[in-house]
This record gives sequence, C-alpha cells and structure tokens, in this order.
Amino acid sequence: MDRPAGTGQDEDASRQDRELRLDGRRLGRLRGGKIRITCGCGHSGDVPVAALVARHGDEVRVRDATASMRCGNCGGRRIQEVRWVE
Ligand SMILES: [Zn+2]
Repeated sequence: MDRPAGTGQDEDASRQDRELRLDGRRLGRLRGGKIRITCGCGHSGDVPVAALVARHGDEVRVRDATASMRCGNCGGRRIQEVRWVE
C-alpha cells in the first residue's frame, strides 16, 4: 500500500494541535494575515488580524477577539473552527 508522503495521521494531529494553540494566542503574536472563522452552519469568513488588533488591542487572545462575532449567514455564534491564513 503506497501512500503519498504527508498524508499520515501524525500530520493531521499536529495540524489540529496548531489550531488549538492559535485559539489562545495573542493577536500581537500573529504577524499580519487573516483569521478565518468557520461557523457551525458551514459559512466561513476572513477577518484581517489588523482589524482585530485595531478593535481589541494586540494583547487580546484570538478566542476572545472572535467570541463576540456573529455569522453573516445564520447570525449565530457557534464557531466551529478558527485558523490563521497568510
Ligand atoms: Zn452560521
């Protein structure tokens, strides 16, 4: 059974770990880029890190900065996934 490199379970686990750590990271530690928030309904949206810093300051953690956001599709606050994109 040949499997292309990089599709093993270990990589999935480390990817998930990185996302979990992003949650508790302070905004100032992210060098630009955007935060991609995916709602429980499947809708996702990008917010520039700079916009979050302008609003909350760079000492605020990612999870706190995103906690009050509403989904543009369903109006809910059920955040399914938060990830950082360059
Ligand atoms: Zn939604």
